[in-house]
Amino acid sequence: MVGVAEYDREQLTQDITTIVKEENRIWGSNPNSYYLFVTHHHQNAYGGLEHLNSTILATNRFAYAQPTTYKNYLALVAHEYFHLWHVKRLRPKALGPFDYTQENYTTGLWVIEGFTSYYDNLIVRRCGFFDEDEYLQALAIDFNTVYNRPGHTLQSAAAASFDTWIKHYRPDENSHNVSISYYNKGAMHAAALDIKIIAETNGKKRLDDVLRAAYQKFYLIENRGFEEDELLTLAEEVTGVSLKEIFEAAHSTEELDYNRYFNAVGYQMVDTANHKHLSLGIKTEVTNGITLIKTVDRNSSAWDAGLNVGDELIAIKGYRIEPNNKAYDYILSTSVEGEKIPVLIARDGLVHTLEVELRKSQKKSFEIQRLINASAEQRRLGNIWLSL
Ligand SMILES: [Zn+2]
Repeated sequence: MVGVAEYDREQLTQDITTIVKEENRIWGSNPNSYYLFVTHHHQNAYGGLEHLNSTILATNRFAYAQPTTYKNYLALVAHEYFHLWHVKRLRPKALGPFDYTQENYTTGLWVIEGFTSYYDNLIVRRCGFFDEDEYLQALAIDFNTVYNRPGHTLQSAAAASFDTWIKHYRPDENSHNVSISYYNKGAMHAAALDIKIIAETNGKKRLDDVLRAAYQKFYLIENRGFEEDELLTLAEEVTGVSLKEIFEAAHSTEELDYNRYFNAVGYQMVDTANHKHLSLGIKTEVTNGITLIKTVDRNSSAWDAGLNVGDELIAIKGYRIEPNNKAYDYILSTSVEGEKIPVLIARDGLVHTLEVELRKSQKKSFEIQRLINASAEQRRLGNIWLSL
């Protein structure tokens, strides 16, 4: 534990031990007799990096004080420890042995980081730190993050993975319009795989069994990286379930019908957003007292009207926009859909008036809920999915 932080050493040791035991159980064997968790404490930080026998974590030094942030820290512990097997040993062919002089291209980060992101929260649930509602909220974040990025209709999880060298860690003002995160999308695919296997094997198998078999075959026995189609073949052999649709979806922008999977185990995904709100589809930031456009959503009303990143927003519908003067919110809440309003901007020292046609917000707010009229069988399978 590096740096200043307030934590209960005994409680922390006990909770991390619970996570370690659960993951050792999932994978069936552990190549390490010694593993070191190093946590760095900062004013603002969250993240981790996996190694063969250790991990370096970074967290806010006050994370331990609040249940929500503490559980997020435990999910980070679960995530990085999972990598001990999943990527450091069981890995796509391109990811090792590394040629550190070259970029190492793989479409498989949706499997490696996506599955790990799915399991980090699931393990926190299985260990009893999350109750069911907290877990379902955590899973819904992946869906909302993906569906609220216009890029989800353009980029697949596999393509996001392949482009990570040039895109993921170098975001710009247009990234949300053209890309997604293979962490979130991969977690959605992992959830679909886990649930489909549980539903179609009557609860006898799940994604754990696929991972354990893959670790045995590709790492322990053959000591090599895998190709995605080899993993699919093995997964179908181990479970007897056809999983091709999900592996194919990872390489496509076609959306899976996630409710089909959730329904099979007694859950449903519902969009609870209020789509009556009007929205321009922009995000702004105040710099030196002026309001600048930071992002413009693709296909939003602002996009179609020609508003652009970097434009200074001066007035809307005749009202001066000033930081915190609420004019922006007032106009959106009192106008009607289809109304065309003048937007005064400054761009490169020239003032322009653009006409923007107001539309309703497309922002999603998915919740994953229990199906009220689920059958006893659906409930039984749902309990297998999320039980402790
Ligand atoms: Zn990771």
